[in-house]
Amino acid sequence: MGDKYMTEMKSFKISIPTDDAGFVGRACDSIKCKQYFKIYLPDHKTVLYCPYCGQAFDSDLMLTKEQTDYALKVAMEEVRVDLIADLQNSFKKIARNSKALSYKPGPRPVKREIQPEYNERELDSELKCPDCDTRFQVYGIFGYCPGCRSENIQIYDANWAIIKSEIVDAPGNKRKLRHAYNDLVSTFEIFCQRKAKHIISESTNFQNLFDARKFFKIHAKVDILANLTEKEKLTLRRVFQKRHICIHSNSIITNQYVKKIPEDSALIGTQVQLSLQELEEGAIVMRVVMGELVKTVESPGK
Ligand SMILES: [Zn+2]
Ligand SMILES: [Zn+2]
Repeated sequence: MGDKYMTEMKSFKISIPTDDAGFVGRACDSIKCKQYFKIYLPDHKTVLYCPYCGQAFDSDLMLTKEQTDYALKVAMEEVRVDLIADLQNSFKKIARNSKALSYKPGPRPVKREIQPEYNERELDSELKCPDCDTRFQVYGIFGYCPGCRSENIQIYDANWAIIKSEIVDAPGNKRKLRHAYNDLVSTFEIFCQRKAKHIISESTNFQNLFDARKFFKIHAKVDILANLTEKEKLTLRRVFQKRHICIHSNSIITNQYVKKIPEDSALIGTQVQLSLQELEEGAIVMRVVMGELVKTVESPGK
């Protein structure tokens, strides 16, 4: 026979199941990141931004390890059924043209239903982008929007935008600023407690930045402040210490405060100065710290 072998490329459309709430898991394709997040399926676009590192990827490249395994199984089943059907057809053809051979095909192959053997993960927070309405879920509290890369999304359950607008509307309102400092530190505390649970049953006072650092150094072998500049560290230290004296020493700068923040030693005995700008800078630095923690504690998506 002079026929050439033909290699046929088959392509199938395989749909990846969502969780019960309609979210589908995705994994960043950057080797340095690989982090896992979820996006609400109706908001899913062909190109997505990683909410942790901000890089853009074609969504086909964002399959998680579990989804890839599942898709392979589905594809293998398609191939198996096609292959058997093709073989049956070929034998039939050969038998038809041959007097010496007869062929009775077995039953037509039936495609087996492949069930996914994984569940999408539970994540820390669900966010809705204020710019493009994309709904998504991430580890931690900060993220770029996977739909439009907006960085406009900050604290989730503390309702950052609301806090901020209240402060902006009433710039002299010290009580609201105090609450906002407290909310930011509480957010950090809750986040650290959750991550700590993954590692060990012990805990520490995560309202103290350096206790938190020590805890994760010992138990997760990561320095959560390692990637910060001195200026960023100072901002964060101030946010934590200022919150502390607002609650424990009537907002007056104490000896103890100055010991922790020697940069402010000239301010001893004065009323602590809080500002929205400092708080926002602190929130951005906190995002870096939490990102570091997520990478260490949570397993990557692929
Ligand atoms: Zn990424
Ligand atoms: Zn967006």
